[in-house]
Amino acid sequence: MERFDVIIVGAGLAGLAAAYTLAGEGVEVVVLERGDYPGAKNVSGGRLYLNPVRDLFPGLWDEAPLERAIVREGATLMARNRSFTFHYTGGELRNGKPQSCSILRSKFDRWFSGRAEERGAMILAKTLVTDLVRENGKVCGVVAGGDELRADVVIACDGVLSLLPEKAGLRAPGLSRDYAVGIKEVIRLEPGVISDRFTVGDGEGAAHLFAGDITRGLFGGGFLYTNRDSLSLGLVVSIGDMAKEAAAGDAPALFDAFKARPEVEPLIRGGQTVEYGAHVIPEGGYRALSGLCGDGLLVAGDSAGFALNLGFTVRGMEYALASGYYAAKTVIAARKAGRFDATVLAAYRQSLEESFVLKDFRTFKDTPRVLANPHLFGHYPELIGNLLRDLYTVPAGPKSPVFTTLRRHLTLSELWTMLLDAKEVAKI
Ligand SMILES: Cc1cc2nc3c(=O)[nH]c(=O)nc-3n(C[C@H](O)[C@H](O)[C@H](O)COP(=O)(O)OP(=O)(O)OC[C@H]3O[C@@H](n4cnc5c(N)ncnc54)[C@H](O)[C@@H]3O)c2cc1C
Repeated sequence: MERFDVIIVGAGLAGLAAAYTLAGEGVEVVVLERGDYPGAKNVSGGRLYLNPVRDLFPGLWDEAPLERAIVREGATLMARNRSFTFHYTGGELRNGKPQSCSILRSKFDRWFSGRAEERGAMILAKTLVTDLVRENGKVCGVVAGGDELRADVVIACDGVLSLLPEKAGLRAPGLSRDYAVGIKEVIRLEPGVISDRFTVGDGEGAAHLFAGDITRGLFGGGFLYTNRDSLSLGLVVSIGDMAKEAAAGDAPALFDAFKARPEVEPLIRGGQTVEYGAHVIPEGGYRALSGLCGDGLLVAGDSAGFALNLGFTVRGMEYALASGYYAAKTVIAARKAGRFDATVLAAYRQSLEESFVLKDFRTFKDTPRVLANPHLFGHYPELIGNLLRDLYTVPAGPKSPVFTTLRRHLTLSELWTMLLDAKEVAKI
């Protein structure tokens, strides 16, 4: 029977952040990953906000395989037959350290696992963990490939469909409304074509989000991020909404229709699809987080439910990195105390409460409920599209005054509904 100080299940960003931090302090740690290599199974839009995690991993970011620094933001609200786009760029995005970068997980996770190995962590790929091992009610190891591996602590970083918190009694089975499905393609294009098409310089990149008719009014949206020599294009749709609205179509069909939209097709034209993946995303927010610790067990990253979709930002990677880091720091302190029971490991939750992680989840606790409003993804894109159509149209005869056009679309009942919806959105 193999024995380690710490066993980490899953070599995604949470698991690797924990392993990197623990190994840096000389802790004997093994990471068990079911994929052929770290990064093989990990799907993400790939926009990483660096500010929240820069100081947790000093020196790491200077060498990291980051793709492009995002200096241009864009968003398109899509109606069935028309759309409204805006772009933003600002000096703060171009000067100094980048606020956010695009990354490709197949590259980044492989590189990060190499850094953890250099510090002494052991990464075992092609190793599926199927159960926890318990002694006197305390978690003391895992079952992988029919063998038992033992440790003082197990850190569950096995992603959104993690069963370990459930097996440990830290979470009830998930509800479909708390999850979304994401489909993503990586589309290869010449670096110069990308810079020209998205009007950015060398090493600079753009991020663009899409919402509205592309999800047939269901909660979700599309994203496009520029990498060095490729684009990451994807679509995310609420699984709960899809289950309710069978007529909305399946996610791959929505993705194909998204790619064919006149706002999207010219951006990806001439590109070659080199990667296609689909993955579930936790979107239940604060209410749907799992328990974070038990006797001998900590839970980090998507496994705990740490992903937040605010509509204009989709974030999970910094929460995975930070929760992995704080889990590791908790274990280091517990080793000094020589105890790994839930009372000692509860310091993990405290660290997360004091960090941006649980502060963000508390601040945005109402977001999943507010964004579940179908008006936001169906009615308003059509309303704005129709209003802009009438403002821009020059008819054969005389044109209506602007006020008449506005009143035609913004009736009193419409304004009242907007006010009620705005009151809810203001809670985000
Ligand atoms: C389409 C899409 C777009 C997204 N866009 C963004 C974005 O732009 N920005 C952002 O910040 N976040 C984004 N997210 C969310 C983000 O990708 C995740 O929150 C983040 O990857 C979570 O990292 P993690 O380490 O917790 O989990 P993962 O990266 O999923 O890693 C879990 C690992 O555990 C392994 N594993 C699972 N079960 C077992 C087992 N039983 N035994 C052994 N190994 C196991 C898996 O193979 C995997 O390698 C997106 C997600 C999706 C799906």
